[in-house]
This record gives sequence, structure tokens and C-alpha cells, in this order.
Amino acid sequence: MKPLRPARLVFRDGVPCSTDYDDVYFSREGGLDEVRHVFLAGNDLPRRWQGARSFTIGETGFGTGLNFLLSVAEWRRRAPARARLHYVSVERHPFTQTDLHRVLEPFSALATEREALLGAWPPLVEGLHRRELFAGRVTLTLLFGDAGEMLAGLDARVDAWYLDGFAPARNPQMWQAELFRQIARLSRPGTTFATFTAAGNVRRGLAEAGFTVHKRPGFGRKREMLAGAIANPPGDTTAKPWFVPPGPAHEARRAIVVGAGLAGATTAFALAERDWQVQVIEAGTRVAAEASGNPAGVLMPRLNADMDAGARFHLAAFLNTVAWLEALEGRGFDTGFHRSGVLQLDIRRRHVQRIHPALPPDVVTAVEREAAQSLAGSPLAGDALLYPAGGWLSPPRLCRQLLAHPRIGIRTGLTVERLAFADDRWQLHTKTEILEAPIVILANGADALRTVPELCWNLQLVRGQLSYLEVPRPDWPALPVCGDGYVTPTEDPFLVIGATFETSCHDPAVREADHRANLDTLRQSLPTLATYPVIGGRVGFRTTSPDRLPVLGAVPDADFFRTAYADLRHGPHRRPLPPARYLPGLHVTTAHGSRGLTTCPLAAMQLAALLEGEPLPLLRDQQQATNPGRFLIRKLKRGTDC
Ligand code: SAM
Repeated sequence: MKPLRPARLVFRDGVPCSTDYDDVYFSREGGLDEVRHVFLAGNDLPRRWQGARSFTIGETGFGTGLNFLLSVAEWRRRAPARARLHYVSVERHPFTQTDLHRVLEPFSALATEREALLGAWPPLVEGLHRRELFAGRVTLTLLFGDAGEMLAGLDARVDAWYLDGFAPARNPQMWQAELFRQIARLSRPGTTFATFTAAGNVRRGLAEAGFTVHKRPGFGRKREMLAGAIANPPGDTTAKPWFVPPGPAHEARRAIVVGAGLAGATTAFALAERDWQVQVIEAGTRVAAEASGNPAGVLMPRLNADMDAGARFHLAAFLNTVAWLEALEGRGFDTGFHRSGVLQLDIRRRHVQRIHPALPPDVVTAVEREAAQSLAGSPLAGDALLYPAGGWLSPPRLCRQLLAHPRIGIRTGLTVERLAFADDRWQLHTKTEILEAPIVILANGADALRTVPELCWNLQLVRGQLSYLEVPRPDWPALPVCGDGYVTPTEDPFLVIGATFETSCHDPAVREADHRANLDTLRQSLPTLATYPVIGGRVGFRTTSPDRLPVLGAVPDADFFRTAYADLRHGPHRRPLPPARYLPGLHVTTAHGSRGLTTCPLAAMQLAALLEGEPLPLLRDQQQATNPGRFLIRKLKRGTDC
């Protein structure tokens, strides 16, 4: 992961300029008129929005966000009330929030949109940041990083492109063939583009990528600009066709979600927010019966020194949950989230040295032992990492709140024994009845495997026991402290410490020996707390996968995989292989392990985006790292399929 360098801003004649590119962010002759002329009129907007259910704009160079603000204002004024605008923009040098504030200050006509953007501005971390604004009427997908690289990782279908990004003569690095190729790949038949420049290499590059290109009168002092469309975008020629996601579920808008823990509740909520009718079925007698039933869940990412795709998924998921909870609270939703920060102990030096410089201090910061001790309220063995935006909440309470959505119905005490597909819908057989829906999402931990047995996931149930520690309030740590084990404040009159990690054990009873083990672990990092008495505990079963990452997405058609990809065992394939096929309408979100609070909201957003055909919030490497077909593909490659 590369650290992001924020934009270097100066004002010349009152117009914001970049000192890196020696160019202006918008025209001296009037920024808003330029946006209207070049990008809106150049793409025939807003006329094309009439009658739309959704529309996707793609942009290179988010810059000040002026294009975004005006597009959103026009969308809110002119598009159908329930239609959704997706705005996907890539930016290599984002503004700091303070600079963004400064450059947008004069645009009081766009004050509502500006405040929404400023309130949702992501931390300066490379990757994809997704924000829902105006109660979901507008979705902003910001890709922080280089345009060519980031767009190569994106899955989206764009209707209109705004090609911005400083004059090609001043920024030749961006206007390259690879960028035009990605723009064509992400287009639909009929997708348009508009750009302020009429430079020859841009004209030729777009034409080579498949666009028709026309010159038009430019704005202000610019004589000409370019606009055009693509009739036949190229297919997705990816090196890994088995990971190509399925198309949207079109008109279904009715789903059954199996499981009422964090995975199920967040997914049901994401769909209900998109006007779906959702039935949630839970085998237990109440919501959040298993791992999500713990009194406190800790929000923190699981990073590693290499920051591989799995760690980048965790980071994206962590930042997403932080922003998602904040947005819910902004709508008056009581999430019960305590934004206390989270301390991580026992960090190997190389972790600190490698993770820390790539991330800004509002995401992770190294704290010396003394400072960490005063946060933890207890002597510590060494330095720590602090995730200032992390914290804790009560997962059962959050699940109940999410499931109270008016478009969600919930049935408890119903176990799905078997799934069958007939007449374009899934039948869910329970002991007493058969339920039906065109779309089913399995969010029922390791039971997902039982109901779809032909899949080769080795999901594992891991028994985890927590211990409740009676500690006088003044001695409570101000925040969760995680090391080998963890301690966290709760809304109950006790601290929670934990957790044990025991595979192949299904014993639901709380055991004394496990309390002792939890205390022993605590003694290593926070010896003073370990002197207090244990007054109770809880056993939960979390589901994990062999690579410890969630299993998330459409369920692959295993028979098709075995035939289509059989040759993978002979090494790199020479002939083109067909794209993946899936069991129609069957999806899964499971194996969130003990990090469900961190990973479930992003997983839910990914599933809802897949079903709705929205730009996907997971970049390709992260989709692949969590793809339900990955274990089957690994086996096919090794020739050890089950
Ligand atoms: N659309 C913007 C607005 O509404 O304010 C103005 C864009 S400004 C003219 C160009 C932007 O492109 C800058 O913010 C710059 O940092 C960004 N940029 C330049 N090269 C880039 C690259 N290779 N990848 C992504 N963004 C890039």
C-alpha cells in the first residue's frame, strides 16, 4: 500500500491551482458554467435522467468536487424522486478536509451538497471509499489512488464519463492508453464521455479504445472540447474468469436472509434500504444468538505487515463501518457505538514500521508505552498501535435496531434443513413449512455449508468463551485493549475479557478452565485487571474459513466450475476460459470470525450492490480474496477437488 500525498493547493487570482501540476482546478471564467457546458451538456445530462431508475457517472480527477456538487444538485432537482445516482470518481491527490473546505467555501448556491460532501469526506487512505448521501439518493464511490490502477480494480457499469484531470500536456502520466482501455471496459453500449480537452492523443486514445469522438465548441478561452460515445464496449477479458461476478437480479426485490446475526441483519438492512422486502429466518429463539450475541463487539481492522489483499479488505471494511455507523447516527439511528478508539498491543516492530507510514494518524497511530498505559488505565509491557476511529458497541442491540426496519420481517425458531431450486425460485425447507423466494442470502455461519453441501468450503466452527470480570468503574480501561486476548468495556456492569479459541469442540457450556485461560492471557498484558473476580461468561461459536477471510458473494455453480475449469490443474490455461456461472440468486455472507462488526457492513453493501447492479464497493483483489469460489478453484488447480 502506498501512502497518499494530499493535493498541494495555492490560489492564483482567487482560483485554486495545483502546485504539482501547475494547472487550475476549474476555469478562471467560471467553474460552475464550465461544469455545465463541458460535462453536463457534453453528456446530454440531465435530459438522459428522465425516467431513469439509476444512473452512473464516472470521473477521472475528483479534485475540488465541483463537478460532483453540481451534478448532485441537478440530479436532486430533475431526476425521479426514487432514482439513485452513482458517482464514481478517482483521485490521486485528494484534498485534506481543511483545504476542501477552503476551495468550496465560495459556492454557497451548492451549500447543501457541499455540507453533505464535507461531512462524508474519507480519511486519506488509498483504496475505495463508499458513501451514501441524501438518504441513498446519491452514492459516492471515491477511489483514492492512480486513475489507471484504481479503475483496473473496479467493477461498475458507467453511463457517462467526465474526463477531467488537468491538461494532458501538464499531466501526460494520466492520459494513457491503459486509462482509455479501462474506461471502455467499464462502459455499457451507448455510454458517453465528455472532456474539456481536445488534445490529439486523447482523441486518438479514446477512438482506439472504441469511442466515437466529436469536437465541440469549448468553454471560455478553450476553442474546442471532445465528446462522444461507445457502441460496443469490449467484453471483460480478465485473467481470472472464474471470479467474474454475476449480473444484477433485476426485478426480484424480494429476498430471504437466513440468519439474524450481524451478517444477516446488515444484509437485510442494506436490501430494505434499497426498497426490497426482506424476510429474515433465524434458527435460534432470538436475534444475534451466536457469535453476534456477545455483550460487546470491538471495531478494529486486522492488518498485516505486507498489507496483502486480505489486510486491505480489513482496512476498507473497518473504514466503511466507521463511516456507516456515523451516517446512521446522522439519521437519528441509535447505534450505541462508543467511539473510544482501540489499542492493539504486542505489535511487532516491523508491523508498526510498515503499516503505520502508509496510513494517516486518524486511522492508525503508534503510541508509546506511557501514553498507551494512560489510555488503558493499566501498566503495559510495551508500545501499542491506536486506531482512533475504532471503538465498541453491543452487537445484539445493533442487530435488533437494524432488523426493526419496516421492510424486514423476522421469524425465529425456524431451521432451514434443505434448499431446492424450482420454478425460478428457491424453496427453503424447514421441519414445519416451505418458504420461497427468488433471492436467498445465507448468513447462517457454518450452517450455510450444510444447506449447500456441494461447495468445497471448509468452514470451521470455533468455540470461543468470554469471561465477565467484575471491576470497579474507576479501574475500567477507557477503550478496548487487544493483544493475544482482549478486554473491552460493555454496557453491562462488567468488563468482558476473552476469548478462547477452540476448534472441533461443540460444548456450549461455560467452563472454569476457560475462565482461567482468559485470565492467564490477560495477565500477560494487563496484570492489574487480572486480579479481579470472574462473575460469569458466555460461549459463542464463530465461523471461520481456512484463510481466515469471509466467504462473500454469489454461490458458484460447482458442477460448471468442475467442467469449465478442469484444465486449471495443468497450469496456466492457453485457451480462453468462460466466465463463472452461479446458482441463480443464491448468495452467502459468512466466516466473519470474530471480526463481524468490522466486516459485515461492507459485505452487506457488496451483496446489495451485486444484486442491484451498482458499482461494487469491493475492489477486484478484495472480491477475489473473499470470493466463495476461491477454495474450489484452489482445489481444481491442485487437482484435489472434493
Ligand atoms: N473534477 C474536478 C473538480 O470538479 O474540481 C477537477 C479536477 S482537476 C482539474 C484534476 C484532478 O485530477 C486533480 O485533483 C488531480 O489530483 C487529479 N489527477 C491527476 N492525475 C491523476 C491520476 N493519474 N490519477 C487520479 N487522479 C489524478
